[in-house]
Amino acid sequence: MLKEFTYDVPTIERGYASQTLYVNLSSNEIKLRPVDDKMKETFTGGKGFDLWLMWNGLPKDRIVKWDDPENEICIATGPLGGVTQYPGAGKSIVTSISPETGIVIDSNVGGYFGPNLKFSGFDAMEIQGKADKDVYIFIDGDKGRIEIHDATDLPDLAYEITRVLSERHTEKEGKDMSVVTAGPGAEHAWMGCLNFSWWDMRRDLPRYKQAGRGGIGTVFRNKRIKALVAKKDKITLDMNGPADLEAIKEVGREHSGEILNQDPNQNRMRVIGTAHLPSIMDEFDLLPTRNFRTGGDPEARALFGDVWEKIFTNAGKGWDGCWRPCAINCSHCIEGFELRTGPFKGKKVVVDGPEYETIAGCGSNIGVFDAHWVAEFNFYCDAYGLDTISFGTTMGFVMELFEGGHIDQKATGGHKLNWGAAEHVAAVLHEIAEGKGFGGKHFGKGVRYLKGYFAKEFGVNEKHMQDIGMEHKGLEYSEYVTKESLAQQGGYGLTLKGPQHDEAWLIFLDQVHNYMPTFEQKAEALHYFPMWRTWFGLNGLCKLPWNDVVPPDNAESDEPAKVPKHVEFYARFFEAMTGRPTKGKDLIKMSEKVYNFQRIFNIRQGKGLRLHDSFIPYRSAGPVTDWEYESRQDRYDAQLKDIGIDIAGKSTTEKNKALRENREETYRLLTDAAYKRRGWTRNGVPRPEKVKELGLDWIPEVMNIVQKHHDSEPPKETLPKIDSAWR
Ligand code: SF4
Repeated sequence: MLKEFTYDVPTIERGYASQTLYVNLSSNEIKLRPVDDKMKETFTGGKGFDLWLMWNGLPKDRIVKWDDPENEICIATGPLGGVTQYPGAGKSIVTSISPETGIVIDSNVGGYFGPNLKFSGFDAMEIQGKADKDVYIFIDGDKGRIEIHDATDLPDLAYEITRVLSERHTEKEGKDMSVVTAGPGAEHAWMGCLNFSWWDMRRDLPRYKQAGRGGIGTVFRNKRIKALVAKKDKITLDMNGPADLEAIKEVGREHSGEILNQDPNQNRMRVIGTAHLPSIMDEFDLLPTRNFRTGGDPEARALFGDVWEKIFTNAGKGWDGCWRPCAINCSHCIEGFELRTGPFKGKKVVVDGPEYETIAGCGSNIGVFDAHWVAEFNFYCDAYGLDTISFGTTMGFVMELFEGGHIDQKATGGHKLNWGAAEHVAAVLHEIAEGKGFGGKHFGKGVRYLKGYFAKEFGVNEKHMQDIGMEHKGLEYSEYVTKESLAQQGGYGLTLKGPQHDEAWLIFLDQVHNYMPTFEQKAEALHYFPMWRTWFGLNGLCKLPWNDVVPPDNAESDEPAKVPKHVEFYARFFEAMTGRPTKGKDLIKMSEKVYNFQRIFNIRQGKGLRLHDSFIPYRSAGPVTDWEYESRQDRYDAQLKDIGIDIAGKSTTEKNKALRENREETYRLLTDAAYKRRGWTRNGVPRPEKVKELGLDWIPEVMNIVQKHHDSEPPKETLPKIDSAWR
């Protein structure tokens, strides 16, 4: 043991422990920090607390890089986290400066770490510094002890680390603890993820959820952390100290009851989880196929929900909730899965998932229409600590360049990366874990890095790579084809942290349900939904119970996209926990404060202006190649006619050019409209009066930043050079 620290475990009151934990791995310093009412009122909790801790903890006089010792990893649940009466109430929110984007990334993840951390006495945990050897941090919330241990004897693979720590630290085989780990891949890639464990009571083994996006696992290993452990023997109904326990029980019962009644008639999440989505996405031309070129393929049938239903072990026959009391129960797995490649070749393992994003990213998007291979990639990405979304999207980009003859085997380290070349994909994956070859040296750094690498070393056309490389702000796209959804183009491009589905997932509402047909409605949605979705991350909640199962009469409500009945449930839940009178609109205000604060944090990090929201890869807005145009020719021809363009006698290339000019201009107009609705300037800066209205003006540096930038004009939109100072 390198350090030991003891403390009195506080009583949780109205959802808060009212203190946070600080650990510095350079000095082994451990201390507690108070949480006052101003912090609760301004930042609510969860991601809000993480951001506030980082804002104060990072040096303010310079841009902090992801691998600076001063960079932090913060983990928090929220005031509603750890409530055993409510579906989806077990989430942790992790933040750090991302290796991929250079700004704050946050990831919302299941498992028991966040609740165990709170019940151990901490609303959030803040880790700074870098250890000089591998370490793990053990939080014993039963005894009030925190220990930093030498971890040089721990194994490398994420799943094995959990097994060893369970044996070492608990008499209950790990049932009372949650472990956070990365893996060897996270050491060599910028797309490293974190695995958060939860105990599967039915199978009697640890299971995992991933904080996938933006490379927090990479920061974790750069700090030389092998694992975090939070142990708490029992979690009970009243441990959160709610203002009104009976009211929480009542609203929890109503929401859970509705899910249990409606899920069988709606998405059948209890049986197939998010694997119900590939068939719907394919039907609506939204399923990314071969690097987002099209939104579906006849072969995609092999990845539909009925296939996964047969593969998932005991699908729908028991308890598969990453938060045990969650009525949705969507966290399915494959037991006894025999691996074909890698260090575990021939072994039978448990695969957590796959979820929709993995099925699309590591399946259709790379031309692998084979469920077994998708599960294999899923297992190894988790075991190595790699984000399946970034891995699949990066692989799609490399494959398209390879298929098009822009690069050859010299550029890929000998791998024949044609569409569907599953064995070669697996080989690249294993190279990342080993830190060798193309995978270990280049691929794991993602699309933006590879664009620079291929341009510089192999002379690949930069403009083409900007068009087809599916990243923005440095983060790889999550798995939706957005060509026909302007709202989702903005939902990806106008985000705080890059194109992910956590912040603004509008595609279904826009393209499938057509809830926002006008331009103004799309701009309104780009205000409302990012704010609303942020609220879950402030409170330690999962978003799926909000709109993956809806009330039977939801379509008849005034605003079905918002699922008004569930918004009212959440307002009652928040009020019953905190004792603060709360209506639906108050929830949005909570988020708006944090959302604007994060935007200002980005500006402090040298980004967060209009330039950084511009230049989405054109493939996310329309067809890049003539082949893509011709594959949906009737649709695009009709659209050109609708906007008054005479297509008679025009070649595909000419028509495609006209379509592109229109779509790029439309995105610019959408940006103007969304900024206006959010109370931001044309350059994307929150206006000083907005900051005051939100009550953030008590933070002097916040006002300094917005006052410095609020009258800046957006620069002329010129596509920056690849490998430029953007990083
Ligand atoms: S809905 Fe699924 S992911 Fe969300 S908490 Fe419940 S089981 Fe976990």
